[in-house]
Amino acid sequence: MIVDNHPYEVNQEGHLEIGGMDTVDLAEKYGTPLYIYDVKAIRENCRAFVQTFEELDIRAQVAYASKAFSSIAMVQVAKQEGLSLDVVSEGELYTALQAGFPVEKIHLHGNNKSIEELSMAIQHDIGCIVVDNFLEIDMIGKLLEKYDKKMDVLMRVTPGIESKTHKYIMTGNEDSKFGFNLQNGQADEAFTKLFEHPYIQFKGLHCHIGSQIFETEGFLLAAEVLFKQIAVWNEKYDFVPEVLNLGGGFGIRYTGEDSPLPLNQYAEKLGAAVTDFASKLDIPVPEIWIEPGRAIVGNAGITLYSIGSTKSIPGVREYISVDGGMTDNLRPALYQAKYEAVIANKADKEPTGQSSIAGKCCESGDMLIKDLPLPEPETGDILAVFSTGAYGYSMANHYNRIPKAAVVFVEDGKDQLVVQRESYKDVVKNDLTYE
Ligand SMILES: *Cc1c(COP(=O)(O)O)cnc(C)c1O
Repeated sequence: MIVDNHPYEVNQEGHLEIGGMDTVDLAEKYGTPLYIYDVKAIRENCRAFVQTFEELDIRAQVAYASKAFSSIAMVQVAKQEGLSLDVVSEGELYTALQAGFPVEKIHLHGNNKSIEELSMAIQHDIGCIVVDNFLEIDMIGKLLEKYDKKMDVLMRVTPGIESKTHKYIMTGNEDSKFGFNLQNGQADEAFTKLFEHPYIQFKGLHCHIGSQIFETEGFLLAAEVLFKQIAVWNEKYDFVPEVLNLGGGFGIRYTGEDSPLPLNQYAEKLGAAVTDFASKLDIPVPEIWIEPGRAIVGNAGITLYSIGSTKSIPGVREYISVDGGMTDNLRPALYQAKYEAVIANKADKEPTGQSSIAGKCCESGDMLIKDLPLPEPETGDILAVFSTGAYGYSMANHYNRIPKAAVVFVEDGKDQLVVQRESYKDVVKNDLTYE
């Protein structure tokens, strides 16, 4: 049985399963709230991209955007699947190094990289820095000179593509904090600095047009814009890009309103378009890089909560409160993100009514799901929220001094704790007394 189109089974006891494991047993064993990942699903998502490029004989790097869910165990899985890795901070880089991720496949992003971050990246000989602004070009130049090292660099540009009600259009407006502006000459100025730099090995362009994108149109438009710029630099400076990075943003299914493409289709269409653009320009096809985050981990993870208090306001709304909320999943409060859920111990029961799921934080906005159809909810039931694998744990916070939840991986009928639940000692560990 497939639950509400989410790829989970229900066992004979009527309990929701993940990766062949009973979620109610896992909740009992590890406590709630609890993030659980089906590692097989993560691997399948990785392979949908990697294998498609391989089958089409297209040179590509699939870099997992680790901000979606960064932990040592997750970085290990990305390594096992042959992915590259995007990091955007010293903390994410440190996590990758602790996991033994191959440094030459790590790429550093960020619109305000510090001198410490850049030094750490250069000293560890990571694979590539995606340059975002002029200050950074100066800093990288000085550091490379100091350490007498060379570094591969991509230039992040803002292609000026916007989604208008799911239709992608080019706009003159490149209003973004990220990257060099293509239209006002900034990118040209940056190009000359990078191209002629004695220590910087300029490899090509990067763009990232957004997130939770359900079609390929925006990516193809972006590739077109980048190739237009490449044509100019090719003509003027004989520049031939070795890499074209089209970013991440591949959409997943959170609720029935979402209809993502199968992941292999993104790889197919992008591969075909880049090959086509390169042949029109009569240059070798650059290596295609993409950076999926959400699409790798989003639908592989669920969160379990225990249901506590309930509140009925007849004619208005039924509330049920859970033992987590915006501290383990900030997305509903941050951008009205929608989710679906079932009662894990009643997963075989039909809904009999609707309840809204409230978090336990002292914020009226701490609501996880509005008007969720459920069978009669009772205190002590386990609620399983689907598709919480991306930007859940990674955005977890200590609001109301709530300790961060644990993370469990399941695979091949085995469960393994990969991030411990925080203790109250952990919560106060940096606090000092005031004398
Ligand atoms: C956030 C981000 C990604 C990943 O986005 P998803 O929507 O999780 O795929 C990739 N590249 C860059 C530069 C990003 O900022």
